[in-house]
Amino acid sequence: MKRMRSADCGVRNIPSPLRGEGQGEGSVELLDLKGLTPSEIERFCMAELGQKTGRGLAVARQLFGKRIEDLDAMKDLNRPLRAGLASRCRISSLAIEKREQAEDGTKKLLYRLEDGNIIEGVLIPGPGRLTLCVSTQVGCASGCGFCLTGSGGFVRNLTTAEMVNQIFAAAKLSPDPITNIVLMGTGEPLSNYDAVRKFAEIATDQHGMGYSPKKVTLSTCGLAPMIEKMAGEMDLSLAVSLNATTDEVRDRIMPVNKTYPLARLMQALHYYCDKTGNTVTIEYVLFKGVNDSDEDAHRLMALLKGLPCMINLLMFNHFQGAPFERPEEERVYAFRNTLLNHGHVAVVRNSRGKDIHAACGQLRAGYPE
Ligand code: SF4
Repeated sequence: MKRMRSADCGVRNIPSPLRGEGQGEGSVELLDLKGLTPSEIERFCMAELGQKTGRGLAVARQLFGKRIEDLDAMKDLNRPLRAGLASRCRISSLAIEKREQAEDGTKKLLYRLEDGNIIEGVLIPGPGRLTLCVSTQVGCASGCGFCLTGSGGFVRNLTTAEMVNQIFAAAKLSPDPITNIVLMGTGEPLSNYDAVRKFAEIATDQHGMGYSPKKVTLSTCGLAPMIEKMAGEMDLSLAVSLNATTDEVRDRIMPVNKTYPLARLMQALHYYCDKTGNTVTIEYVLFKGVNDSDEDAHRLMALLKGLPCMINLLMFNHFQGAPFERPEEERVYAFRNTLLNHGHVAVVRNSRGKDIHAACGQLRAGYPE
């Protein structure tokens, strides 16, 4: 007998993998609480469990805020609420199957999902901060030519709970709290829009994990319509992987540009900044002889004219068989200085965890599927 009536309780758009995954015929569907936003938990508790206002939010605070993953340990819930949750819900978890630590302290984490698929994350320590890089898909369909992460193709979207679980699992590895979240692991977050939007809400809601939207960054390869859509729906920081100053070059290294060329992408970014008042981070990976000339620096400035942004410059991380080369450091700093001399905010970012293939674009490398 299936007892869950999500439409009745107002808990809508529950992704099917969260609905009784692995439940046999005739068994009760169990809702994964980690896949519900605090307001969805509240609605469920009121409509389905007959609880008063605020009780569901208290559940959310214990789960996401205090990271209590055992209903019996949520002591200040009343007994009928706990019994109701126990009969209708589950709390999933994610195991870290393997971890490696780089010389610079960066940890690469290998998680195995309930269906056997593998995803990776990276935990990056820094002065006064600990950043977790979260994956949003198993594989990626975007096919960026410089990305080993996406070279294996797309397998499936992650559920909201699987994204939330990456934070829960990684947090157990460090005595220091995770201060920043970046959606820069495997996958294109805006291709998994609904699950990522719910993740964003859980991460930033005061009854959820309570992160400041400034501390949660979504990085996209440039899905222009989805950038416009998120402007009104997701309160996060936005980073865009630009990497070229002409359509000819960007078509070659980022196939998404054939669908949303530079002019269309810039239109979306202006719309996003106008609507949110936010600044965008422009990520620009430099490839030797491809996009690292002085002319490129000037075209980049022309492209970004009037856009509230800062520019992160990264040197390509070479991998075996890569069709690009890493530029000389002097070229990178000359590129940066051109930008600085014209009043732009530009920073050269050093890739972290290169010796364990945890650097940008190298995730899922070296693991058998
Ligand atoms: Fe996908 Fe990002 Fe790699 Fe592009 S850079 S293929 S969007 S994971």
